[in-house]
Amino acid sequence: MTLKNVIVSHPESGAVTVFAAVSDESVAEAVAGVGGCVSLDISGELRHRAGGAATMNSWVESMRACSPTRKSSLSKDNQLAWKLPSALEKLDEIIRASEGKKIVMFLDYDGTLSPIVDDPDRAFMSNSMRATVRKLATYFPTAIVSGRSRAKVYNFVRLAELYYAGSHGMDIKGPSKGSKYAKGEQTGVLFQPASEFLPMIDEVHKILSEKIKSFPGATVENNKFCASVHFRCVEEKEWGELAKEVGSVVKQYPKLRISQGRKVLEIRPIIKWDKGKALEFLLQSLGYANSNDVFPVYIGDDRTDEDAFKVLRERGQGSGILVTQTPKDTHASYSLQDPSEVMVFLRRLVEWRKMARRRQCRLRREIEQMKAK
Ligand SMILES: [Mg+2]
Repeated sequence: MTLKNVIVSHPESGAVTVFAAVSDESVAEAVAGVGGCVSLDISGELRHRAGGAATMNSWVESMRACSPTRKSSLSKDNQLAWKLPSALEKLDEIIRASEGKKIVMFLDYDGTLSPIVDDPDRAFMSNSMRATVRKLATYFPTAIVSGRSRAKVYNFVRLAELYYAGSHGMDIKGPSKGSKYAKGEQTGVLFQPASEFLPMIDEVHKILSEKIKSFPGATVENNKFCASVHFRCVEEKEWGELAKEVGSVVKQYPKLRISQGRKVLEIRPIIKWDKGKALEFLLQSLGYANSNDVFPVYIGDDRTDEDAFKVLRERGQGSGILVTQTPKDTHASYSLQDPSEVMVFLRRLVEWRKMARRRQCRLRREIEQMKAK
């Protein structure tokens, strides 16, 4: 009898259940009536289960649930799970929790700093958001963590003073002139854990570009260390067939896996690396590997950001903020509605830091004056 570790995805909630070392029969039982599954064999290699129609359905259902136009399709239980306080209303609470610690900012791009638009190449960031992030980086170390290629997300943001973690954190680079926050050299590429997969991703990107031609509106983006098939402009009735097509291509590459985001399927190497690992790597780069003196704030809108929220929960540090207008199961602690609320939140954080710094300076001057008397 073959034993496997199995991950079952629940399409309604987007949650996953892990079954350790179970038989094929138990797999069938676990999957029945739930959704799709991928299996992780004992050697640790993740594979899509043969005939993964259920997996495809699960992705498509999850994508529908993630769609901003679907506000009422979730179960009552999920609505009850929707109790995240607003990060704007709880700003004082977040500030109190960060007292005496160094705040480090992590920002997703699409749906967080820029609105989700039909054409992913036109997901521009507003000038006012750029000015806000520039200001933010003068007070706190700031990183952009995106599923996009690093070059593409940099072209959107165009702020050289930030850290960039592209391709879901698989391509990390420091600020172009070094960081005032980190000790030692922080320029240039800091980490690329998936370099060996570059030719494979290129190949899959080319094949998928051909395959999706029969689906009007579908696009595939080469994000260097991963590829993204965008469903944003594809008619919803075609989503199932398109997902099936993507699945059949990726099935030929056992070293790649598919994950699902907001109207997108991402094809990524099977390595244990995600936005959560990128967050940990960047904290380590900044000298906060095992420190209690750091307060990371991560803001993101997508399923892939959950890895980072989870890391914060496990570390018992900082705040995860989910950008959403629909109920979702999440590891985040707070929520913001959309990029415009993100901007207000960032501005208020900067304003608080500016005032706190002024107060410190004034206090220092008063103490010096008293000493001089
Ligand atoms: Mg996003």
